[in-house]
Amino acid sequence: MSETSAHERAFEEKLDKLAEVAVRVGLGLQAGQELVMTASLDSVALARRITEHAYRAGASLVTTLYSDDEATLMRYHYGADAGFDHAAKWLYDGMGAAFKSGAARLAIAGANPSLLSNEDPEKVSRASRAVSQAYRPALELITRHEINWTIVACATPAWAKAMFPDESPEVAMAKLWDAIFATTRIDQDDPVSAWKAHDAALQKRAALLNEKRYAALKYSGPGTDFSLGLADGHWWLGGGTTAGNGYYCIPNMPTEEVFTTPHKLRADGTVTATKPLSHLGTMIEGIRVRFEEGRIVEAHATRGEEVLRKLIDTDDGARRLGEVALVPHSSPIAHSGMLFYNTLFDENAASHIALGQAYSSCVVDGDKLSPEQLAAKGANDSLIHVDWMIGSGELDIDGITASGQAEPLMRKGEWV
Ligand code: ZN
Ligand code: ZN
Repeated sequence: MSETSAHERAFEEKLDKLAEVAVRVGLGLQAGQELVMTASLDSVALARRITEHAYRAGASLVTTLYSDDEATLMRYHYGADAGFDHAAKWLYDGMGAAFKSGAARLAIAGANPSLLSNEDPEKVSRASRAVSQAYRPALELITRHEINWTIVACATPAWAKAMFPDESPEVAMAKLWDAIFATTRIDQDDPVSAWKAHDAALQKRAALLNEKRYAALKYSGPGTDFSLGLADGHWWLGGGTTAGNGYYCIPNMPTEEVFTTPHKLRADGTVTATKPLSHLGTMIEGIRVRFEEGRIVEAHATRGEEVLRKLIDTDDGARRLGEVALVPHSSPIAHSGMLFYNTLFDENAASHIALGQAYSSCVVDGDKLSPEQLAAKGANDSLIHVDWMIGSGELDIDGITASGQAEPLMRKGEWV
């Protein structure tokens, strides 16, 4: 047997393990459930393995919706201007109908981080807005955790090139795959028990924070002096959750965060991003914003400022925060020192906040509350939900108790 084929076989085994762990641990797919999967044409190999494991787990039907970067670009190059306010509403309605009738949802991430970098930001933002509006009813079933869902990544050539521009395409892909396998614990002897232990540790961290009932968090670090109130009745989550349909899932692979709902009226001060953000195929770098009473009143970026401005102008809620997440600077992803240009990874390498929609599952009994009741507790509402990274090895975070006392929570990016 040649060395190459041994190497290839080892890779195929890991790819298969990733698919199996995604279906059984991430998604918690149940016998008889339908699965709706989205993937790019560059992720076919992983999508097929996931399909196989889904059927082995008893899936009644697996439907994969493939996207194609080249076709996306053709729209920008040849599509009529008026078309950019249009989205395939029928498709998103169909996905919503599938979720309502019991389907699980799996997304394969791996987008080219700068696919749309050279396209007209105005068109990019209109197209994204149209999709957000059309997808909203279906997405709500996901943000309310009514169904079991997960996101898992597949290395793709364009993504690998963005991360390792100086390497050959083969070496770049191999390095990215190694990083995906390491951060999703697939390279460990028993990935399933490794995930169980990791999930338990995140649950414990969230439970500790839930006991504290902090009223606010206070951040200080280079370029950041920021205080953020937490929503009334906020609830910290980490690791897996039991979805409304009763099935346990771990929504992101990897995941290193504990997160909750901030109060949409209680953010004050300046925050500086510590990593670039790839948003809608465009890079936004050097984000620096100032909040007053929960609302962004000043926004700057050293690169992609126009995209940032369009993003926060999406609707009123797009200028306010819907998520706050704590991630230690020593998380395995941060430890790798790599910048992934992909939120699934980068948000799990650093403490972050998200503009836009709040997760109602991060409010006590949130799933039973009306939108008005959630808003009264401070949960934000928006068409967007965009995470950006503000954590670093230089960031200190205090928890502020209801009586106004500060307790050290993180020092130099690590749990106290
Ligand atoms: Zn997050
Ligand atoms: Zn988020």
